[in-house]
This record gives sequence, C-alpha cells and structure tokens, in this order.
Amino acid sequence: MHGRGMFWAGHRHGRKLPRQLCIWRNSTMCQARFGIVTAGICSEEQMAEDRLEKRMNQGIFITGTDTAVGKTFVTAALAWSLKERGVDVGVMKPVETGVVKGRTSDADRLAQAAQSADGFDLVRPYAFRFPLAPLDAARAERRTITLSVIMQAYRRLQSQHDLLLVEGVGGVHVPITPTADALDLIEKLRVPVLVVGRVGLGGVNHALLTLNALRQRKIPVLALALNRTTATGTAVARRQEHSTVSLLRASVGVPVIGPFPYVPGVESGFSQALSKLAAHGEMKKLTKQVLASARRSRRPRV
Ligand SMILES: [Mg+2]
Repeated sequence: MHGRGMFWAGHRHGRKLPRQLCIWRNSTMCQARFGIVTAGICSEEQMAEDRLEKRMNQGIFITGTDTAVGKTFVTAALAWSLKERGVDVGVMKPVETGVVKGRTSDADRLAQAAQSADGFDLVRPYAFRFPLAPLDAARAERRTITLSVIMQAYRRLQSQHDLLLVEGVGGVHVPITPTADALDLIEKLRVPVLVVGRVGLGGVNHALLTLNALRQRKIPVLALALNRTTATGTAVARRQEHSTVSLLRASVGVPVIGPFPYVPGVESGFSQALSKLAAHGEMKKLTKQVLASARRSRRPRV
C-alpha cells in the first residue's frame, strides 16, 4: 500500500515528522487503519520498526491466579487499548464453560472489545454448558477436548492478526484433557503469559503459586497484572491492597502492573466500562509492555 520510504504517522509511530503531501493521505484504507495525522518520509530505523510490527503475529496467553479475578475484563480492556493504538488485535477463548444460550459469554465480550470479525468456531473452539473445569464440563456432555483442534484455530487466528490475545480458563493447573492442563496448552502454544491476579487478601499466595508453576516450566511471563474485583471500601482493605502490591513487587522478578481500578457496571455498560479501564494509566503501561514484548519476539513456530 505504501511507497518506498513513505508511511502514515499515526498511532503506530506517534513521532513528529516534516509535514509532506502524500498521495495516500485521503485513502479510505489509511484512514480506517491508522487515522490521518500526517505523512512523512521514514528513516531506515522507522521502516525497520514498521516491518517488524507487520510480521509480529504474536500470541499472548492470559491466565488467572484463580477463577473470577477479572481475566476477561482485563483481556477485553487490553484488546480495546491495543485497538485504539491501531494494532490489529485478535482474541481467542479456546475453552469456555458455563455457556448459557442467550447470556453474554466471555468470548462474546472479547469479540466485542476487539471488534472481531473472526469465525466463532476459531475464536472459541469449545463451549460447554456446565460451569465446571473443562475436563469435567466436556465429560458431562460426553465430549472430549482435543488440543490439536485448539492449536489449529490458534494458528489460523495468529496468522491473521498482529497480536492474538488468548484467554485461558481458570488457573494454570486446571485440567483440560485427562493428560493435559492449562500449563501444557501454554507450552504447546509457545507464547508468553500475562498473569492476572487479585490485589486483595490472598493475592500474594495465589500469584506466587502461579508464577512458580510457570517458572518451573520455563514459560516466559510478560507481567503480573493486579486487578480489583470489588470496591475498596475500608481502610483495612486499602492496607491489604498496598501490602499485596509491595510484597509482590519486591519478590516476583517480573513487572507488576496495577492495581487496576474497580469499574462498576460492567454487566450493564460493557463498552463504557472498557473505555474507562483502557484509559487508566496502568492499562496504558500494560499495553506498552505488551507491544514491546511483541516487537522483541519473532513469530513462534507452533
Ligand atoms: Mg473469564
């Protein structure tokens, strides 16, 4: 689309450059993809960065230290934030349990946040009715989960997007098949992991257990993101939060991001809640961290 040395300086580059007339300035494709800011001549370094971004095809696995720590909301807000920066982001929820017809699911939320047009059979290869661990949710319906089906869907989506956010199910030791848990799936996908943890009481132990499990398998951890799932009402609760953050910062050896603010009304006004979290400084920090990691990585072979 772009001529040699020319590019659109939009969200992708964010640098001030000499203003020049570009023949693509009013192109619909450019406006839709980057938004019009200004056009200029790329330096060699900028062109290299652009080429790298174009082929990053990076996946990131988002796991929780426990169930109901806000994994879906954090993943959705991250997708939203990346999208705002002009990144082509895809989403995936390989296995979802507790899926009830007519009720908004995690996969629906993720697809909405990323404005995904991908087939739902790829975004969520496995959906089960019972809110159980995947292995038992599948057994209850006399079905089985096959990791190769998840891998194929992952490869397809990965090749179609700059970044693919894969939301796990529960924590790292949740059984998916009789012989594989979430850790085995992450290992097969060969992707870095973002751990979402709770900032309240119990957050330290759960985060350390999860990070240790990942470390033992030599799985790279991008960051630990601490989330608030309730409003911090009391002085004791605030003290607990402060203690969780400082103890983890001092001991985990990976970037600790957060705590994210508690955002009420997620059920009734999902888009408003997402944009609120996406605008928060800690989410911006996480977005930058994710982009930096993706640029550093080569496309993993899966
Ligand atoms: Mg979820």
